[in-house]
Amino acid sequence: MSDADFDVAVIGGGPAGSTVASYLAQAGLSCAVFESSLFPREHVGESLIPATTPVLSDIGALAKVEAAGFPKKYGAAWTSAAESAIPTLGFELSHGFRAAEIEFNERDQAGVNQDYTYHVDRGQFDLLLLQHAESLGAKVYEGVRVRRVDFSGPRPKVVFPMGSKEVEVTARMVVDASGRGTFLGRQLKLKVADPVFNQYAVHTWFDGLDRTALAVNKEQADFIFIHFLPITDTWVWQIPITDTVTSVGVVTQKKHFSAAGTDREAFFWECVDSRPELGAALRASKQVRPFKPEGDYSYAMREICGDGWLMIGDAARFVDPIFSSGVSVAMNGARIASYDIIAAAEKGDFGKASFAAYEGRLRNAVRNWYEFISIYYRLNILFTAFVADPRYRLDVLKMLQGDVYDGGEPTALTKMREITRQVEENPDHLWHKYLGTLRAPSAAPMF
Ligand SMILES: Cc1cc2nc3c(=O)[nH]c(=O)nc-3n(C[C@H](O)[C@H](O)[C@H](O)COP(=O)(O)OP(=O)(O)OC[C@H]3O[C@@H](n4cnc5c(N)ncnc54)[C@H](O)[C@@H]3O)c2cc1C
Repeated sequence: MSDADFDVAVIGGGPAGSTVASYLAQAGLSCAVFESSLFPREHVGESLIPATTPVLSDIGALAKVEAAGFPKKYGAAWTSAAESAIPTLGFELSHGFRAAEIEFNERDQAGVNQDYTYHVDRGQFDLLLLQHAESLGAKVYEGVRVRRVDFSGPRPKVVFPMGSKEVEVTARMVVDASGRGTFLGRQLKLKVADPVFNQYAVHTWFDGLDRTALAVNKEQADFIFIHFLPITDTWVWQIPITDTVTSVGVVTQKKHFSAAGTDREAFFWECVDSRPELGAALRASKQVRPFKPEGDYSYAMREICGDGWLMIGDAARFVDPIFSSGVSVAMNGARIASYDIIAAAEKGDFGKASFAAYEGRLRNAVRNWYEFISIYYRLNILFTAFVADPRYRLDVLKMLQGDVYDGGEPTALTKMREITRQVEENPDHLWHKYLGTLRAPSAAPMF
């Protein structure tokens, strides 16, 4: 090591921070992770997608995750209260617009040798990953909230309080993995609200929920379920946490919650009761955690890297959780960033240009996710049609598996955008009345 205490200082010990620390420690770099909480701590974001598997495997944590006994996730299912009268317009739909499902084993994925991923209690999962990073040689400091990073000298200094004093640690570069705390985004004034999405969620855990209450195929009880509600732009997640405990959350636009004028508990029940079988199944089970809100979580950054720093995971960007992509983006972003960081350390050059490959690949992935999410909200019957139709199914599955980092835009996405435009432009189109209210610009600024 040189004139710094560490090669890399990481702010935040969630999946992004512990993954980047694992890669860097494996490569022999000295790395410190500063985490403000004491783990385990609760966290939203409990359903993984298969693109996390190659990362877990690379850092040597896959066997530990498997051994932890998290519920296995073989696929995803969507249900809706949609009227059967919606015209199918040539799409092949086995359950009409009322349901769709997909299994991960339908498409081979590079680096993935199992036909499932996991649903995780994030308290346990994040602890496992942080301890894993430590076991590889990263220094982990829990209960340390970084106060600022001083970029005025030749090396960044990470500053945090200790008792009544401030302590400084120098590093050759800083990685911001502070999640929606968006530490550097706020310090460097780079954070911008998403121009379209302003989402809000309220969620909790239930014990004893009948997970098949709305399922078409009762054998898919342990899939993630997304239940569309007959309320504009509003849906519910159903994620197994243990054999008996299920995480359930309502996602909507912030303005719908504000307009309801009720508290979060009343809002949750009002939403789930719009699908009466869901409301009844939830009431027949036992709520085991208080309701928790998540708000204002859609934003971008004008820059995601600079001289001596970069951002990964939610610290860099977050739109909406509809496709369970957050942890995968956090871990894959950490993987891709670590390649540039290791190369930068070898060159001894931590200037912004050293992180260009990371920036390009993350931008590619986020653009695909953003488009996919935007189209989903704009015309979600189209999403159901594409999942069910054999012509597009595997291409949609590719995105749902999280294979979005390389190559151009998936063809299904291009086709979806084309159809959405036709529906938007033609008020007489048979699907026109099913358009949602959110309308993301097709080439929205990413960062
Ligand atoms: C409603 C909702 C539902 C979601 N559902 C899913 C899902 O089903 N699947 C999925 O994959 N993703 C989901 N996500 C997204 C997922 O939660 C995140 O993408 C993921 O947690 C990002 O990981 P991260 O490591 O970037 O950040 P985090 O997991 O948030 O970790 C950041 C860490 O940084 C620490 N920290 C913050 N500030 C400081 C500081 N100043 N000093 C030191 N430490 C600090 C925090 O304590 C925290 O532990 C959902 C998100 C929302 C809002």
